[in-house]
Amino acid sequence: MLKLITGDTTEILLTKTALVKDPLSPEIQALLPQMIETMHKENGVGLAAPQIDKSLRLAVAEVDNQVYYFINPEITSYSQEKIVFEEGCLSLPGQFFPIIRSEEITLRYQNEKGLPKKMRATGFLAIVIQHEVDHLDGILIINRYKKQQKKSSIIL
Ligand SMILES: [Zn+2]
Repeated sequence: MLKLITGDTTEILLTKTALVKDPLSPEIQALLPQMIETMHKENGVGLAAPQIDKSLRLAVAEVDNQVYYFINPEITSYSQEKIVFEEGCLSLPGQFFPIIRSEEITLRYQNEKGLPKKMRATGFLAIVIQHEVDHLDGILIINRYKKQQKKSSIIL
């Protein structure tokens, strides 16, 4: 079981990750099932590599009993339609923030076999993916929430 990294001032959680050079390397192939196991034990629906102390562009998720491996994910489009969801994070225990996200996204990534993939996601899966990709860019929900608040409090 991997150790979870927590805290909103923890540097690795605020740092943009490095691309995974070889998804088929023994290190990455060993890490993927360990990340799934850790996500299950912690009752999470997603887990990004910085949360287990690896600054790599890699995340896993499980939504509707389907497991996803996102290696080097890049969101390529965001819908104009937004949804708000009260999000929690394994790295910020006990904290919840209403986060505004796109209702639909498209992304490209490599799967656990290193194959390039494209997908469209909506609703809860889209929220989870945007949350995990934020982790890979060093953005925690507390900071995304603060940014949202700033935007909505502009006085004209
Ligand atoms: Zn999180």
